[in-house]
Amino acid sequence: MYRRSRTWVAGWALWSAPRSVVVVVLTVDAIAVLVSIATAFLVPVHGVDVLRFAVLALCAAVAIELTRQFESRREYARTSTVPYIDTKAVWSFAAVVVLPPVLATAMVVFTYTLAWFRVQPNRQKLPYRWIFSSATVLCGTHAAVAVLAVGMAGYPRAPGEATWVGLMDLGIVACAAVVRWAINLGLIMTAIALSKPTVTARELFANFGEQLLEAGAIGLGLVAAAVVVTNPFVLPGIVIAMIALHRGILLSQYQEASRVDSKTGLTTAGWWHDFAERSLARARDRDETLGLLIVDLDHFKNINDTHGHPYGDSVLKAVARELMAEIRDNDACGRWGGEEFVVVLPDVGTQQNLHNVAERIRRRVQSIVVQPPGQDLPAAEIGITASVGGAIFPSAGITSIDELLLAADTALYAAKNSGRNTVRLGGSDVPALPKQRALPQQAEPPNARG
Ligand code: GH3
Ligand code: MG
Ligand code: MG
Repeated sequence: MYRRSRTWVAGWALWSAPRSVVVVVLTVDAIAVLVSIATAFLVPVHGVDVLRFAVLALCAAVAIELTRQFESRREYARTSTVPYIDTKAVWSFAAVVVLPPVLATAMVVFTYTLAWFRVQPNRQKLPYRWIFSSATVLCGTHAAVAVLAVGMAGYPRAPGEATWVGLMDLGIVACAAVVRWAINLGLIMTAIALSKPTVTARELFANFGEQLLEAGAIGLGLVAAAVVVTNPFVLPGIVIAMIALHRGILLSQYQEASRVDSKTGLTTAGWWHDFAERSLARARDRDETLGLLIVDLDHFKNINDTHGHPYGDSVLKAVARELMAEIRDNDACGRWGGEEFVVVLPDVGTQQNLHNVAERIRRRVQSIVVQPPGQDLPAAEIGITASVGGAIFPSAGITSIDELLLAADTALYAAKNSGRNTVRLGGSDVPALPKQRALPQQAEPPNARG
């Protein structure tokens, strides 16, 4: 058992992180342990405290359990450069306000441990990050303890009744909340910035709006603190509110995240395919055409091999930007695979129109210039080109998106074979025009036509 845990710890990705990250992570972990021990004996624990802890912990467990599927998906969709935000603070902040510090520590450890086992999708991968997150919350928690212990007479307790004293208490609790939040977020941001020196401020603050969720959780924590003291039977109301908010708001956020490919900002293959299916159904209903293009970069492996994968990634982003600039509002461009992009063009009109769009895309890609980092080589000398295959609905033998994709893919193959940096359209040369195959006309009796 001991040996197993040794290998587990020895295998952490932490040890291969930059030295500054290792130092910050271990220091924060150590401070969290030390301050937790230091505050543990500040306030004696009574039977009623243990009872309140048990009630809050039970609510936390129910809330974590009933929101865990959404939380796992959100965690899975998150990029590693943004801090993870959730609603566990409801319970840990309530504990800070009304329970002795040692039980506040226990609440953080309890909720994080539970979430580690129930929420984390890739549990084996990065336990040190989860431990670090708990440690930053513990540091923030004990800073809040310090604010409350100094500022609030009779700490720990819920803010006093609705008098000036109660209002003062509320001010102190608000200060404690802000201190807890700032320390927690500051430490996490520092660790992310150190472990990814190339991260931009924009990436780091990408989900800053989600901090509102943290503020909401802390606000609910204050309510939970008051309620657990005065009437614990009201606590299920908070649990229900949290579950409803998860299903109502966070799930749609997740759906948005699963719609967008984080590297290029284009839609993901799954979302794109659904959109293309819906567009095809609409085209069929309205007797319109539907164009589809597949764009595959030429010799992209060579570009990666010569200039590095990060450079390849910048090229992918640049291509995505050009594609977005070329298409119309009703079109949708998705990242199909590594360096393949798909574009669906509802109501594109004729095959010639589709060819013109494909040709404009090909020319745009050809004109992309991305300077390789740390090389004097003129960027223009790195020829970035793409081959484009396309197909249009309706065409002979094409009745579904998958058949349209297959025809475009076959055309792409032909484009690659004929020397790359070129456009080929598949399917029959002349698409069967919508009016010729329109059902209402076919349904008419023969004598009605002539
Ligand atoms: P071809 O002209 O025949 O398309 O040649 P190719 O080298 O582009 O061949 P292929 O399409 O098979 O190569 C895909 C390469 O794309 C392999 C992989 O190194 C690279 N790639 C896939 N995904 C990514 C990514 O996310 N980032 C980077 N930088 N490269 C990627
Ligand atoms: Mg390629
Ligand atoms: Mg490819």
